[in-house]
Amino acid sequence: MEMNRSMLMYVLPILMSIAALEAAAILLWRKQSYPWRESLASVAIAIGQRLSGLATAGLIAGLFTGLWQWRFFTVDMTSWWGPVLLFIGIEFFYYWQHRTMHECRWFWANHAVHHSPQHINLSGAYRIGWTGAITGAALFYVPLLFLGFSPQAISIALVLNLLYQFWLHTELVPRLGWLENILNTPSNHRVHHAINPQYLDANYGGVTVIFDRLFGTYVAEKADDACRYGLVHQMNSNNPFTIVFREWIEIWRDVRTSRTWGDALRYIFKSPGWSHDNSRLTSEKIKALARAEEEQTPTMPSSPQQNLNSASHGNLQTSAATFAKPETI
Ligand SMILES: [Zn+2]
Ligand SMILES: [Zn+2]
Repeated sequence: MEMNRSMLMYVLPILMSIAALEAAAILLWRKQSYPWRESLASVAIAIGQRLSGLATAGLIAGLFTGLWQWRFFTVDMTSWWGPVLLFIGIEFFYYWQHRTMHECRWFWANHAVHHSPQHINLSGAYRIGWTGAITGAALFYVPLLFLGFSPQAISIALVLNLLYQFWLHTELVPRLGWLENILNTPSNHRVHHAINPQYLDANYGGVTVIFDRLFGTYVAEKADDACRYGLVHQMNSNNPFTIVFREWIEIWRDVRTSRTWGDALRYIFKSPGWSHDNSRLTSEKIKALARAEEEQTPTMPSSPQQNLNSASHGNLQTSAATFAKPETI
């Protein structure tokens, strides 16, 4: 965890410089506009995330070091197969951690921050929530400890995985042929960030998309279906605090107004967009509505003013929007 901390503190300025070069390329080469305010908000959130990481890294490191005593095996990381097994293990648990972040609102509350920009560019790569430690998302990697990978080895592997993902956040890199089938690429990650209904809940991998292919969540970018980015209920704010805490506040509102303890728990832990009266849209519903529209057998929702506050992500400006108009902030 120490490594995690210092590496990101050290590399963050370098990565921001590369993001600035990308901004120049977008402005001068592509002759497109650049979302400066959004990018500055991302930088502020990235710095805040590092500071919150400083406060919580010790806790996680302590927990992992304690659990390491209970391991069943000790993997020899000087062997050729040790790092290979760790890479596969990290990819596997990263996939399930990331998928759960999208499918369970408790984790989504923190992860939604990363998905909040309405443009994809390098500056947004480390727009990461400040409340990751509170959610306990690090516990997804505990099985690797029991299997014999040390806290240091896991930490380094995770940092390298996260660093790899930096270059995925750009529109400047086109599709990369056969590599798209194996690696997580800018194209595959654009799909992950897209809110078009057919792109929802796809491509959760870190360095590869192998587990997406295995578990049926791989979706390729289509030339005739340009990605649109952001959240179902777009975050039309560049205030870092609003961005970081919005979903937590929404959860608190839902819990406070719940009529039963069961509903309160379901508002916290079920999919984003779940509601006790079925008045909101989850990703699953958005995709089903879009499919129904495609098949030209539209299914109208019960209310035209659906409350879409917390649906994980889906594009309200696309086909799903023809069924329900969103409220925007
Ligand atoms: Zn995600
Ligand atoms: Zn991303």
